[in-house]
Amino acid sequence: MSGDVLSTAGSGLLPSAEAAPLFQARELVKHFRSRRSVVQAVNGVSLTIPRGRTVGLVGESGSGKSTVARLALRLLEPTSGELSFDGVDLLRASRAQLRALRRRMQIVFQDPFGSLNPRMRVLDAVGEPLVVHRLATGKERVDRVVDLLERVGLGAGDLYKFSHQFSGGQAQRIGIARALATEPDLIVCDEAVSALDVSVQAQVLNLLKRLQSELGLSYLFIAHDLNVVRYMSDEVCVMYLGEIVEQGDGDALFADPRHPYTTMLVSAIADSPAEGSGRHRRRAVPRGEPASPSNPPSGCRFHPRCPHAMPRCQQEVPVMQRVSADRTVACHLFDARQEVSPR
Ligand code: SF4
Repeated sequence: MSGDVLSTAGSGLLPSAEAAPLFQARELVKHFRSRRSVVQAVNGVSLTIPRGRTVGLVGESGSGKSTVARLALRLLEPTSGELSFDGVDLLRASRAQLRALRRRMQIVFQDPFGSLNPRMRVLDAVGEPLVVHRLATGKERVDRVVDLLERVGLGAGDLYKFSHQFSGGQAQRIGIARALATEPDLIVCDEAVSALDVSVQAQVLNLLKRLQSELGLSYLFIAHDLNVVRYMSDEVCVMYLGEIVEQGDGDALFADPRHPYTTMLVSAIADSPAEGSGRHRRRAVPRGEPASPSNPPSGCRFHPRCPHAMPRCQQEVPVMQRVSADRTVACHLFDARQEVSPR
């Protein structure tokens, strides 16, 4: 697995093991301003997704993961930062370029029923992107939709059904078929299995893995459940209160977490959902509550909850630094002998 998939914040994009990564974000910031406050939802996130690989983004609810997903697809405009897809600067792309690129970047949402129009038959729901992007009409569209349904384990017999006639897992398969319609290179899975039962989760995760291997897809895989992220991801980014605090090879990160927040998350893991055991699993819930992103703590944002907090943690923002060949961490524990300037 690549050890240089993810960049260190503030130092620009590091060279990737892949010559031309599919997707890169650099120092992405999204602040939502209202009359009373500024919500710092995303604060300097950098990540790279190589072709055919999965980058997992994990963290508690409210950490900014879903905002990163929407920024990546330009469903939201960043406050600042850089985004590129297949070498094209997404923030400076022309309308025509963006339209063409949007075909190649799709998203699967958490709620399979909420993301499907209940008045649309499966043929129209899955075939809509083919029409919008002028890829197929008439019989060709029907044939393409049947192909897509078969890819996700459904079939021609489902063409004229409505979403309410399916289980949650089947509805999510329809959502995946719809995402595949435009033959994307990148799919953002935003809590795509979080609403499903554990045994159904495992089936959908395995489907996503099979599709990746068959179609060479890249995934940005977002979840609060570490077991799910661990199962799916080649590389993992751990987010806390709008910032990435640790990133690296997925297996190594879960086997040997370095950042105190990651350690707390990993300690809450029970058994793997991919095994389909159906047993109760604990959510990864560290002690205490995250602060509000409209009033983040000074210094290290994690310091009010950190068992290793030192006086300097309240004043100095830790910078991301490489602590091993495949790991970067933002924590003063790793720079105790260095001078660290506040950002
Ligand atoms: Fe804990 Fe300090 Fe490291 Fe933050 S910088 S995680 S408060 S030790």
